[in-house]
Order: sequence, then structure tokens, then C-alpha cells
Amino acid sequence: MQFELTEEQAMIRQLAHDFARQEIAPLAAQADRDQRFHLPLQQQALELGLLNIAMPEAYGGMGLGALEVALVTEQLCRACLGLGTALCVNALAAEPILLAGSETQKQQWLPRLAQGEFASFALTEPGAGSDAAGIRTSAVRQGDGYVLNGSKIWISNASLASFFVVFAKTDPAAGHKGISAFIVERDSPGLTVGEPLGKLGQRAAPTCEVFFDQVQVPLPNRLGAEGEGFALAMRTFDQSRPMVAAFGLGLVQRCIDEALPYATGRQSMGQRLIDHQAVAHKLAEMQIRLEASRLLTYQAAWLADQGQRNTLQASVAKAYTSDAAMWAATEAIQILGGMGYSTEYAVEKLFRDAKVLQIYEGTSEIQRSIIAREMERHLAQGR
Ligand SMILES: Cc1cc2nc3c(=O)[nH]c(=O)nc-3n(C[C@H](O)[C@H](O)[C@H](O)COP(=O)(O)OP(=O)(O)OC[C@H]3O[C@@H](n4cnc5c(N)ncnc54)[C@H](O)[C@@H]3O)c2cc1C
Repeated sequence: MQFELTEEQAMIRQLAHDFARQEIAPLAAQADRDQRFHLPLQQQALELGLLNIAMPEAYGGMGLGALEVALVTEQLCRACLGLGTALCVNALAAEPILLAGSETQKQQWLPRLAQGEFASFALTEPGAGSDAAGIRTSAVRQGDGYVLNGSKIWISNASLASFFVVFAKTDPAAGHKGISAFIVERDSPGLTVGEPLGKLGQRAAPTCEVFFDQVQVPLPNRLGAEGEGFALAMRTFDQSRPMVAAFGLGLVQRCIDEALPYATGRQSMGQRLIDHQAVAHKLAEMQIRLEASRLLTYQAAWLADQGQRNTLQASVAKAYTSDAAMWAATEAIQILGGMGYSTEYAVEKLFRDAKVLQIYEGTSEIQRSIIAREMERHLAQGR
């Protein structure tokens, strides 16, 4: 076991760090206020090789792995969780294609992402989020394809996407085994995208409803076999949760970036804030949770890169870093006192941004259910 990054990993991490500091951080507050993604960032990040990191070079990606994705996203989200998420979330739509796509499908769709298009992963519906098996959007076989009807909600980057990976019921009576996945072009007749939804935080990343009214999808756009969609979504999450854990990791780091200089610079009762044990211990606890978050995230990503089952570790990392981020943002405000509550300082945005980490990509409660299920599996295997 070794804990050192390779030279290439250290380089890409540094590149992401510099880009985030120089290009993302100065835009963060305004993008949050405007509730709008800053499109030129995407082209800049693409040119630097900071996107499509885990996509094989054959399709125009960087040909690296989940660990490099985590290293980069940590830095981008350290500068702004909203802008960082909007930049990184194409990976969530690319993953089902990488996992289940035929060679023809990979050649058809992935290079479009490598060239700068956006795509979204569309699973959640107004009536079914945690209960993914309960989705209602239907895909009925007709002629040479399928007809989709229904709606999705909370779809990240939907307003920017030129295609969607959509999960729909092909056999409504078969529960989670009746779900299939499809790639659907944005300009398909009958597909409409709603206005970006108003949100507490992560406002620079657009999130929309998507409606399907008699949308025709050709047969070659089905990903994998009929009925394999649910399993594909779950396998996708095993790959993407280390990335989302890295979002949280970046946020915890940013809380320290903001709170530590404040605590060393401000005086109270004749001492610096950090010289008061109550404040020092909060900062120390932030560092403890940062280090734990980092190890958990990198471990979950590393397992994915080894091709090993990482369901347990991906959920542990996602749950831990999300909770750590929410906790650290709350305490960062506390350390800054009244200034922490002011929109003039970054920490109130960190607090608003952090909350979503405990909700999307499986809530913190759902992660714990997955972890408990995996623990039982290990027990049954005599581990
Ligand atoms: C900003 C944002 C971006 C998102 N991006 C996407 C995206 O790109 N694509 C996409 O498909 N989805 C996306 N989502 C949706 C997200 O994944 C869901 O919101 C999430 O899975 C929770 O589902 P829900 O909102 O329906 O809440 P519910 O499932 O209704 O849950 C409500 C509460 O009940 C708890 N709960 C529910 N069931 C159980 C259970 N069995 N055991 C214990 N507790 C339970 C939950 O933990 C939660 O606290 C996004 C959401 C947000 C807010």
C-alpha cells in the first residue's frame, strides 16, 4: 500500500487547482447570484484536459480513471460546488454508455461529450427518487423503436444537455426488473425541458424537469437489454459516488480555507480566535474529517479503477464526505460569527451548497441502507 500520488496524478491535481483558483473562484459568487452556469468555463476546462477524464482515449477522453476524476473534481468544487458540479456531471451520463453501450453506441455518443456537448442522467421523477424502482415514465415498444411518456425532475444540466440517458419502464409489472435505459436526443419531438428550478444552493448548476410526450426513440438507442436499466443505474452510482464524495471533500477543504485564516487573524478577549480552545478544536475536527474524507474517497475511486466491487466503499465515502461537508460548513459559519452569516463572505454559500450533497446521488439515509445491506452480504460470505 502506498499513499503517494504518481507524478501524472500530482500534475493533473495541480492543474485543476490552478484552474479552479484562477478561473472558477472569481466567478463563483456572481454565478450563484445569477443562478447561471458560465459556459466558457467548460471550453477552457476541456482544452486543459480537465473533463472526460475517465473516458477512454479512443472516444476522445483522457483515458484516466476514477481516482484522477476525484483529484480534479475535489479542486473544482473547492472553488465552487455549483460551477464544479455543472462541469463534472457529464460523467454521470457517460458512465451508463461506458458500462452498457455497444461499440457503435460508444462511438456515436461519447465523442460528442469529448467535443464539448453536455448530457444528463435522467432517473428521478416527481413521484420516485430514493425509490428508483418506482419510476413511472413508460417506454412502449412500437415498430422499430419505443415511445416514451412521463416526466423527470431534478435533472442536472438538463438545460444544457444535447442528449439524455433516460430510465423508463418497459415492463411496469416487473418492478425494478422492468426498467430499461435509453439515449434520447434533446431535439426529439415531444421532449421538452423546463426552466431551471430555484434552489437553496449549488445555484450555478442548472437543474430542470424534463417532459416526454410520445417521444419516439429508435431501437439502437436502447442501452443494454430490456430490464437491465435498474442494475445499470446502480452500477453507474458505484462509479460516480466517489466523484460526488470528492465534491464534498472539496467543500470541506474550502471550509478550512475560509475559517483558518479568519481564526488566526481575528482577536477576541485579547487572543486570536484560534487560541481559544473551543475554536481550535472545531478547526482540528475539520482537519480530521477532511483527512478521513480524502482517504475514503480515494479508496472508493481506487477500487473502481481496479475493477473491484466498491458498492460499500463508494457509499461510505459518499455518506461520510457529505455529512462532513454539511457539518464543516455549519461550523465555518460559527467560527466567522456574524460575518459567517453575511452574504459578503463565502461560508454562507458553502452552507447552502453543502446541503445537496446529503440528498442527490442517493440520500445519506439511502447510503446507510446500502452500507447495512453490504455488511450483511459480507457476513454471509464469512468475511
Ligand atoms: C440539485 C439536485 C440535482 C439532482 N440531479 C439529479 C440528476 O442529474 N439526475 C437524477 O436522476 N436525479 C437527480 N437528483 C435527484 C436526487 O437524486 C433525488 O432528489 C434523491 O435521490 C432523493 O429523492 P427524492 O427527492 O424523491 O426524495 P425522497 O426519495 O422522497 O426522500 C425524502 C426523504 O425520505 C428519506 N427516505 C426515502 N426513502 C427512504 C428509505 N427507503 N429509507 C430511509 N429513508 C428514506 C430520504 O432519505 C429523504 O430524507 C438531483 C437532486 C437535486 C436536489
